[in-house]
Amino acid sequence: QREAARAARHQPGATADGVRVEVAANINRAADAAQALDAGAEGVGLMRTEFLFLERDSVPGEAEQEAEYRAMAAALGDRPLIIRTLDIGGDKEVPYLGLAREDNSFLGLRGIRLCFERPDLFLPQLRAVARVAKDHPNVHLMFPMISTLEDFRRARAILDSVREDVGAPRIPLGVMIEVPSAALIAGELAKDVDFFSVGTNDLTQYTLAMDRLHPQLARQTDAMHPAVLKLIALTVDAAEAHGRWVGVCGGAAGDEVGALVLTGLGVKELSVSTPQVPGVKAALRAHRMADLRELAARALAQPDAQAVRDLVRAGGRA
Ligand code: PEP
Ligand code: MG
Repeated sequence: QREAARAARHQPGATADGVRVEVAANINRAADAAQALDAGAEGVGLMRTEFLFLERDSVPGEAEQEAEYRAMAAALGDRPLIIRTLDIGGDKEVPYLGLAREDNSFLGLRGIRLCFERPDLFLPQLRAVARVAKDHPNVHLMFPMISTLEDFRRARAILDSVREDVGAPRIPLGVMIEVPSAALIAGELAKDVDFFSVGTNDLTQYTLAMDRLHPQLARQTDAMHPAVLKLIALTVDAAEAHGRWVGVCGGAAGDEVGALVLTGLGVKELSVSTPQVPGVKAALRAHRMADLRELAARALAQPDAQAVRDLVRAGGRA
């Protein structure tokens, strides 16, 4: 079965009846792009740019960042590249930035909130991305840890002024849906964005109030919890009402059960780790869209994550 999945890996992601679902890869460095494409990735749904800042002892300069983004965009040709602006804080520590310790780092200056405090980090990154976008129309940009409409508008205004400075065109712009408040105001956000990308790792953590790294809570911190799925369903409905699309770049997208349920909820892009690409494509091809829709509707009515997993494993017959 593994062999069959590998052989079919370059077919476009789709259900058995041909409904397209893009299967992309999450990668951190341009050097990983070739491997992702070889695995059948149809693009990059999440480039975690904070990785450029890790395992070194100083901030990567604007030119260095630009070279990395450019290499990634070029390697993908006309396939989409979604670059996420810096998501430092929470579990992603960068010692040389001299950030203050926080009692609740997951609830503090993390992601876009830190970028607002640190234009010395945010502006060079945006300038680097904008310059690359001038030459590579496949570049998309998204902001992490958006929790209010104001967050998004403020980030977009900063981007707009940077684009003007460097003479860059409009860049397809998205927000991560990884805080429950963002899912709940998705209808408002959808008017202003081009796409949403659901970060199920954080959305699960913040919805269930369970630290995503807590070893004793690991089994319960499951994105298949119906409370999390309901927030994703809300997000999809809001996006569709405004003609926007929704992807998922959190871990749930690469898990076979997750991929099926999310597709049934109306997610159009699944961005997963490179080794998961062939298996996710194979799982989609084994199911018809109408069945996945019904499965997702039933998943929403389950009492807990385990019941959702049992339902999906039983092929919706449980
Ligand atoms: C997520 O939260 O699901 C996500 C994709 O972002 P990260 O794991 O980098 O926080
Ligand atoms: Mg996240």
